[in-house]
Amino acid sequence: MTAIMEATLVSKEGTTGMAGKRLWLDVSFSQKDQAKAHGARWDPKARRWYAPRTGMEALQPWMPLPDVPDLLPGEDRGFGDGLFVDLVPSTCWFTNVRTCVDERDWERLRRMITGRAGRRCEVCGQGEDRDARRWLEAHERWDYDQRRQVQSLRRLVCLCTDCHTVTHMGHAQITGKSAQAVAHLRHVTGMSQAEAEEHIDVAFEVWSLRSQVPWTLDLSILTDAGVTLRPPPDAAERVHEANRQLG
Ligand SMILES: [Zn+2]
Repeated sequence: MTAIMEATLVSKEGTTGMAGKRLWLDVSFSQKDQAKAHGARWDPKARRWYAPRTGMEALQPWMPLPDVPDLLPGEDRGFGDGLFVDLVPSTCWFTNVRTCVDERDWERLRRMITGRAGRRCEVCGQGEDRDARRWLEAHERWDYDQRRQVQSLRRLVCLCTDCHTVTHMGHAQITGKSAQAVAHLRHVTGMSQAEAEEHIDVAFEVWSLRSQVPWTLDLSILTDAGVTLRPPPDAAERVHEANRQLG
């Protein structure tokens, strides 16, 4: 069975000479030049690379894998609603879904997450804005079982850059974005300045406690959907990542 997936695209311009079909590709950002050199083309409306014709063997490495289902197996899309500071323990290697899944899998996962959210932030409703340097990003919602020391991925949520910066407040602080992040937190939640500061303090206390114990990861909502994970980074890299987050 061919992995090539065809999708009908209604061309607004109608002058492209395409027969209305696109042979979509899954090209990660780091491989775009390579794919382009092999004949891949970019569709700015669909924001996706495609093969201009069938039978292009050189583009085989980017032929898409089957779509990820819109609801991951066991995912709870009501889990962890709203905007809050959400720091991943330093003892967990899985700090960012993008760096922990295979690159091709990241593309199809990102497409599913932004697509099912209607290309809007699931928290504040903003869309992408190139001029404002605001993008849509995938964020992980975790459940922490303290007694069993199991950290389970419960949901992936589509966040705009502004909301994502709030959730990773430690990183915002070391990159000089904390004032902007606090302002966005207050704007979205209606918290006062004092309430926002209190909320951030509590989040760091929770982070500190959770960072004292190792966590067994449950990533079954990804692996059961056929997503391939990269091997975990070594301990030194994890410490570096933890320092980066905490600042
Ligand atoms: Zn947002």
